[in-house]
Amino acid sequence: MLQVKNLSFSYKETPVLNNISFSVKPGEHLSIIGESGSGKSTLLKVLYGKYDLNEGNIYRKETEILGPKFNLVVGYDFMKYVAQEFDLMPFTSVAENIGKHLSNFYPEEKQERTKELLEIVELTPFANTKVKLLSGGQKQRVALARALANTPEILLLDEPFSHIDNFKKQSLRRNVFRYLKEKNIACIVATHDKEDVLGFADSMIVLNNKKLLAHDKPESLYRNPKTPLIAAFFEEFSIISNEIVYASRLQVVENSDLEVTVKNSYFKGSYYLIEAVWNNENVYFEHREAINRNTKTCLSVVDKK
Ligand code: ADP
Ligand code: MG
Repeated sequence: MLQVKNLSFSYKETPVLNNISFSVKPGEHLSIIGESGSGKSTLLKVLYGKYDLNEGNIYRKETEILGPKFNLVVGYDFMKYVAQEFDLMPFTSVAENIGKHLSNFYPEEKQERTKELLEIVELTPFANTKVKLLSGGQKQRVALARALANTPEILLLDEPFSHIDNFKKQSLRRNVFRYLKEKNIACIVATHDKEDVLGFADSMIVLNNKKLLAHDKPESLYRNPKTPLIAAFFEEFSIISNEIVYASRLQVVENSDLEVTVKNSYFKGSYYLIEAVWNNENVYFEHREAINRNTKTCLSVVDKK
């Protein structure tokens, strides 16, 4: 439905995105990941038609999405974009902000729809609060609800839960992503949080060094991370005999060639992450209890599932 072909873009001389191609199906959830500064936000803005491309094309079905040089008004009805820095009306209520783009022609429907949207982003008690009185995370939720209001075909979300505290984040993420699936709304989500990806995204692309380093299902990239950068997105890992090994794949055994010296134990809830040293390199593994510093321990690598 959305097709990106050989897209290249630079703000000034230095390229930010180079020769990027991918496509998104109706209702698909695509994550864009990459380090800070890798161009995630830029890619979303370019997809939204905010800038002119240096090269390449973006199509929605047969229609080409064009930048400001060819299109006076930025933005399209079928696509909504929630920026990292959201743009709300501070002196009006949450409900009014959410309903801003809903038609006043059917006041009852507008009210019902606003109510439903308030529930999705868990802001019902704040319906009549002025937006300027909200926290950053609450504002982010208002921006999300407003983008959902007219059921777009595609939603572009830039780090949508980054300002939301951990108490709310999990349930909100499930609500929003479940809602998008139910309504068959495609979403492209820029994030550096694996929790936004695992269990939700159908596919993911990795931006690195201006290029598209990988494009695959989250499960495939998790199981076979081509590079340390991809592995680091998911979990703590070590490189053992040139292989990337997640901390969860190393276990303590009686005897092995992999004898490490423990340096630190970090409490992680259901396990401890143990930092150790082997051949002057750091090795990380999970263990059910803490291990004293300088203890020597043998490890073995559990086979991949
Ligand atoms: P990310 O969202 O992955 O952190 P960005 O897309 O914000 O990355 O930025 C990618 C690169 O483009 C960075 O080097 C950043 O400094 C640069 N950049 C971002 N916005 C602008 C702009 N408006 N003008 C010039 N350079 C920019
Ligand atoms: Mg960004």
